[in-house]
Amino acid sequence: MRGYIPVIKGGSSVPGDANLRRGTRSRFNEPEAGNERAIINRAWSNLRSGDRNQMVAPRQTVSMASDPKNIQGTGLLAGLVTGAIGPESAPEVLARLTAAAERAGASDIHIQMRGQTAEVVLRLDGVMVPAVELPPGLAERVCGRVKFLARLKTYQETLPQDGRIDKTDLQTAADVRVATYPTVTGEKIVLRLFQGEQERMVGDLGLPGEVQGELNRFLEQNSGLLLLTGPAGSGKTTTIYACLRQLAARQGRHIITVEDPVERVLPGIMQTEINEARGLDFACAARHLLRQDPQVLVIGEIRDEATAQIALRGALTGHLIISTLHAGSCRGVFERLASFCPDLAAIAAAVGLVINQRLVRRLCASCSGRGCAGCFDTGFQGRLPIAEFLTVNDVVRDRILNRDFRHISAVPTLADSGAARVAAGLTSATELDRAL
Ligand SMILES: [Zn+2]
Repeated sequence: MRGYIPVIKGGSSVPGDANLRRGTRSRFNEPEAGNERAIINRAWSNLRSGDRNQMVAPRQTVSMASDPKNIQGTGLLAGLVTGAIGPESAPEVLARLTAAAERAGASDIHIQMRGQTAEVVLRLDGVMVPAVELPPGLAERVCGRVKFLARLKTYQETLPQDGRIDKTDLQTAADVRVATYPTVTGEKIVLRLFQGEQERMVGDLGLPGEVQGELNRFLEQNSGLLLLTGPAGSGKTTTIYACLRQLAARQGRHIITVEDPVERVLPGIMQTEINEARGLDFACAARHLLRQDPQVLVIGEIRDEATAQIALRGALTGHLIISTLHAGSCRGVFERLASFCPDLAAIAAAVGLVINQRLVRRLCASCSGRGCAGCFDTGFQGRLPIAEFLTVNDVVRDRILNRDFRHISAVPTLADSGAARVAAGLTSATELDRAL
């Protein structure tokens, strides 16, 4: 046990006090407050209907004075806040929260201070799900506990901080990345959990067969540029880590990454992070790392002309380069690349494969989407990728050289890939609409 000394600044322990101050009714005065299951179910059905603006219901004040029975059996957070809860329970509440989030398969825990209380929201299969509200006193101490374990300055609330909690400190499956940010209602803390992806290889990603085949073929090559695209949260990083594991498993290749930040430490790979505050951006890092004689170089993201030039040059000088680029489609990747680099011949010669991917929630196998305890009544459990790809062949090369991007398109398309998942009963049409 570390010498943690919690700090409370003017916390109130009167139940409902903060709610009154915010001009909202205390939940404990509402007739439905005793029936959390119904509240959660309603929120889940809102979720299921795809209306993310309505996901407000299952917020539930954990009051120090409330009867523990009232906060049991809430599905998602069962066991989180049972028993006596007071400010001194912060370490236990945090441990239960991370354990519950991991059990639920959440990727992130968001803790948002709202005055003296804190709203806890989980990101579950990519969707934000309000989970619990921490009362005054406890809220602040839970935040302090997170910052203490992440070795951040606990008194610093006005500047963002980044850190990491060792997996042994919270008994999590892997280290937890922590990011704090000051907001107008108080500090916001995001804990990123890494789970279930520790050992995934390309074959474990669940990519459509053709995409997986093309990706494996590309990874066998000695040079060329692989570009992944898709919005944030579309699984690009997971795909890259699977590629890295696969490349490292074959051994004999010198593999270097420059990431922002390193999300998972992999054996056999030299991983580095950019540090823009110190002038080490992707372009600068990649330029220097190419002198470290890598055979494979992963550049986290191409955001500017300088990085684009280095990625292209690296691929044309005998390196296997993997990177990501923000664009909505395979065609968009070439348009964006051409906006960075006027040398179309270099683009045509360097780029070997483009993959555009999204993640859709997978229908729960136990209830076929009707909703059950196993899937917290969402009807979904886990996610699976849908993807389109474009291999740069002679036809595509000609189109790039002629700046004829309009006729560059992936077949089958992302929509086709999604439709196939729906037809196979793996996801729903509504969920596909949400993802596209
Ligand atoms: Zn289910």
